[in-house]
Amino acid sequence: MMWGHDRARARPAACHQQPLGSFMLGKELMIDPHLVQADPEVAALIAAEERREFEKIRLIPSENYASRAVLEATGSVFTNKYSEGYAGKRYYEGQQCVDPLEQLAIARAKALFGADHANVQPYSGSPANLAVYFALLKPGDTVMGMALPHGGHLTHGWNVSITGSYFRSVQYGVQIDTGLIDYGQVRELALKERPKLMIAGATAYPRIIDFQAMRAIADEVGAHLLVDMAHIAGLVAGGAHPTPIPHAHVVSTTTHKSLRGPRGAMLLCKEEMAKMIDKAVFPGLQGGPHNHTTAGIAVALGEAATDEFKVYAHQIVKNARALAEGLAGHGFKLVSGGTDNHLILMDVTPRGMTGKAYARALDRAGLECNYNTVPGDPRKPFDPSGLRLGTPSVTSRGMRETEMAKIAGWFSRVAENVANEAELDTIAGEVRDFCAAFPCPGIAR
Ligand SMILES: *Cc1c(COP(=O)(O)O)cnc(C)c1O
Repeated sequence: MMWGHDRARARPAACHQQPLGSFMLGKELMIDPHLVQADPEVAALIAAEERREFEKIRLIPSENYASRAVLEATGSVFTNKYSEGYAGKRYYEGQQCVDPLEQLAIARAKALFGADHANVQPYSGSPANLAVYFALLKPGDTVMGMALPHGGHLTHGWNVSITGSYFRSVQYGVQIDTGLIDYGQVRELALKERPKLMIAGATAYPRIIDFQAMRAIADEVGAHLLVDMAHIAGLVAGGAHPTPIPHAHVVSTTTHKSLRGPRGAMLLCKEEMAKMIDKAVFPGLQGGPHNHTTAGIAVALGEAATDEFKVYAHQIVKNARALAEGLAGHGFKLVSGGTDNHLILMDVTPRGMTGKAYARALDRAGLECNYNTVPGDPRKPFDPSGLRLGTPSVTSRGMRETEMAKIAGWFSRVAENVANEAELDTIAGEVRDFCAAFPCPGIAR
């Protein structure tokens, strides 16, 4: 190819294991020929990322494969348009197409989740949560969320986050021995600390959270309840997980995890809170909404309303169970003993490894996960005891229980060969061949 020197320059550290030489940009991959011409460096990186996502078994539970339709909508001219405000009340002219687009996304969100009101403007999950704080609290008010090392999110009041430094944060956790939330303990803490906002939701909790119990506690102490369903939104949409909508004052969610949309977020709430929430998002926290993202969200919500997506959501859960059983069968120690949702958390130290060393070895072998703390972890967050994995991405590729058993086998082999680079590379080759039979939404190969 004519721009070989560009390729060499563009080769990023993260892709170094997969040289770009052997495939043609813009042909077998779906890179727009305009981009290849205009900016071969960026085009090369996109092509390399497509290939990387195709050739690996991606098990990071917050990731997925957005469809080609979602990618196209997100890459559209709606990125050109400013539209501060809401439909019918904007601060810029020329909203003939944005207004119906945003209203369509809102209508689809409300119908899919059975919510009275939806705001589709938050830029991502973190600002969506901050908007809820801004709507319901004053600086210094008490919030109560799940601690990060126990599976909560940074934005649930963790100390390094703005939510833990501009507000008075008290944190609940899980029981160390069972890995489960003890609702009696949550209630005791709430009665003692009297939070104004309670948060339920997690990034690393493999079990179903009892939203009704959380709401009962919130009611008892006069708190609002925010349920952050970022990880499980796709499962909820597909009926494979109980919905928080009837129990929460506000529900926040990202749109890019199990929901399989573009990177973005939404807030769902009852009609009586609609004005407060909308005002907090704009003008409270944000300027112009990302209309191209709104377009992608609308498409994703349309996809999530299909019967096919229901099957997908249920298969995510079946696959997680099968993978959990497979891993337990190979002697891995699962936090809480298994999973009810899309994710698995395991303590890998009994097998003589740390989470980080194992995650590195797995990545080299073509199995992408992330290291994670486990409840009560004696190790530091940057090199913890655990590994977190999930099934939304592999399920998007059409993998099922049989494939999960195979993946569990590779996990065991990698664990036995953490320092054996030759064997890890052999496994990576097997994984690449295996993946060739499972097409990825959004990637033409
Ligand atoms: C991913 C996630 C977020 C944050 O979303 P970003 O889009 O990364 O800002 C918030 N809460 C939970 C529970 C999440 O899993």
